[in-house]
Amino acid sequence: MKIAMMARNAGLYSHRRLVEAAEARGHGIDVIDTLRCYMNIASRRPEIWYNGEKLPRYDAVIPRIGASITFYGLAVLRQFEVAGTYPLNESVAIGRSRDKLRSMQLMARDGIGLPVTTFAHDPKQTEEVLKLAGGAPLVVKLLEGTQGIGVVLADTDRSAKSVIEAFRGANVNILVQEFIKEAGGTDIRAFVVGGKVIAAMKRTGAEGEFRSNLHRGGSAQLIKLSPEERSTAVRAAKAMGLNVCGVDMLRANHGPVVMEVNSSPGLEGIEKATGLDVAGKVIEHLEKTAEKGTARTRGR
Ligand code: ADP
Ligand code: GLU
Repeated sequence: MKIAMMARNAGLYSHRRLVEAAEARGHGIDVIDTLRCYMNIASRRPEIWYNGEKLPRYDAVIPRIGASITFYGLAVLRQFEVAGTYPLNESVAIGRSRDKLRSMQLMARDGIGLPVTTFAHDPKQTEEVLKLAGGAPLVVKLLEGTQGIGVVLADTDRSAKSVIEAFRGANVNILVQEFIKEAGGTDIRAFVVGGKVIAAMKRTGAEGEFRSNLHRGGSAQLIKLSPEERSTAVRAAKAMGLNVCGVDMLRANHGPVVMEVNSSPGLEGIEKATGLDVAGKVIEHLEKTAEKGTARTRGR
């Protein structure tokens, strides 16, 4: 196959590993800097230009679109899709997963376990929102946060209120969530490829830290998932329509709850924690599906 990988930084571990795995399996792969692509979007013959040249036709595209360039990145991916290139993850599916509210609404519709989560636009409803979320302790989250930044634990309703007011003053969207205390600062990342969990790890926060993000000093270890956790991860991926994703879950008393579905999951943590060739599995999946050309939406 001739593969394009949309990525801003070819040197990142995840991107290097995907290139390595593709080449090891006999494919050609070009890394394309997403933000340097330009295109005539009104042409009936969709094409993408790059460094003064028209990109060739690719059999498959691996989108690695960072959260901060979602808007432009999805436009470039759609252009690949309308030109008939098979996407590892479709633009529509990535769009769903990038919107936390939308993705939780879709998962709730499918009966997937979620932490109680509330959202309101009007600050006058703060008290009601706190009540609806079950009262303190509560987690207040920036809707557009990543790597655990903008995730705050409020022990009392009063502190929850002042955190919400502070965020509101900064004119950002937030959601308020029940605190899953029993998770004990540990979350689970299930790596789903083609409807199966192919690797899983648990991440534990640094001492005294309820956030388990590796960027916040957490550490990762291999873990064996329960059948319920596996099926929750697979159903979450399906609800989003993602072929490859990282599903982050917490172990709540009443079963696994999904926090987030990541459409460009990092490979470093999971490969190092599990010793598995995750990149190889991703490319293998691409081989099977791209051949059949089974893209569902092609940007629509
Ligand atoms: P980000 O997308 O920035 O990583 P998350 O929503 O994943 O933010 O939260 C970061 C971390 O905080 C999680 O990995 C988890 O360890 C912890 N956390 C988040 N929400 C909850 C919650 N409702 N209850 C308990 N811990 C939580
Ligand atoms: N982008 C990383 C991932 O999806 C986040 C790692 C983290 O901070 O936990 O794996």
